[in-house]
Amino acid sequence: MPRNPFSLAGRTALVTGANAGIGRACAEGLAAAGAHVIAAGRSPMDDTLAAIAAAGGTAEALHLDFDDPLAARDVFSGREVDVLVNNAGIIRRADATDMTEADWDAVIDTDLKALFFTCQTFARAALPRGRGKIVNIASLLSFQGGIRVAGYTAAKHGVAGLTKLLANEWAAKGLCVNAIAPGYVETANTEALRADAERSAAILARIPAGRWATPQDIAGACVFLAAPASDYVNGAVIPVDGGWLAR
Ligand code: NAP
Repeated sequence: MPRNPFSLAGRTALVTGANAGIGRACAEGLAAAGAHVIAAGRSPMDDTLAAIAAAGGTAEALHLDFDDPLAARDVFSGREVDVLVNNAGIIRRADATDMTEADWDAVIDTDLKALFFTCQTFARAALPRGRGKIVNIASLLSFQGGIRVAGYTAAKHGVAGLTKLLANEWAAKGLCVNAIAPGYVETANTEALRADAERSAAILARIPAGRWATPQDIAGACVFLAAPASDYVNGAVIPVDGGWLAR
């Protein structure tokens, strides 16, 4: 174990959906721990790169649009990436009776299919090196049913299952695969929930921590799962939820 088991100095970490929300906070956290960050996504990464540079870190942007779920197919050839954070994701809300096939497909393609094939292409490059870390962003809806988010719940349960399957296949080969299950975080993903006064109050009332999470609340677990400190953590889905699942 290195002198600082939480240091990512000399490591490169690629974060998908790094322009905003949890992805941006994870990118900034990884950079603060010493990683060179590849901020990947379909939107400009200027704010993320500027924040990382202002804090003394290094980062570059990479265009990656999961409208093609296999978009990462060539990303890991020709550059050594030690850490992959699969964060990009969408949510579509509708009663189960009204959920359209288009919304179902969009969520499953982005949140589940793209995640799997990005893991696959990362592993093909990392396994021969015998070292690598994958951090998948799961959800409380990897454990619970949720309401009005059928595709999302199916996808996030799938993310938890895949995290375990990939850990089973790759743990002995030096590749750690784990996930974070964030609680209710103040990001674009939860805008509709926060705009619904009744739902928002009901959610807040059952969070033991007494507040919603900020994106920064999620970054610590991401650094841990990216760093040598977690070398014997495999196939875990770690809730960072202010105690929600303890209720
Ligand atoms: P967010 O601000 O909406 O971030 C979603 C990110 O995914 C954005 O960077 C977005 O890019 C990117 N993305 C979406 N579709 C993409 C595509 N086709 N190609 C490339 N990038 C794409 O919301 P967030 O809360 O930070 O979400 C991040 C992750 O956390 C998601 O996997 C979400 O399911 C998960 N999560 C969130 C919460 C919560 O309470 N907020 C709780 C549990 C899990 P654009 O900005 O270009 O759209």
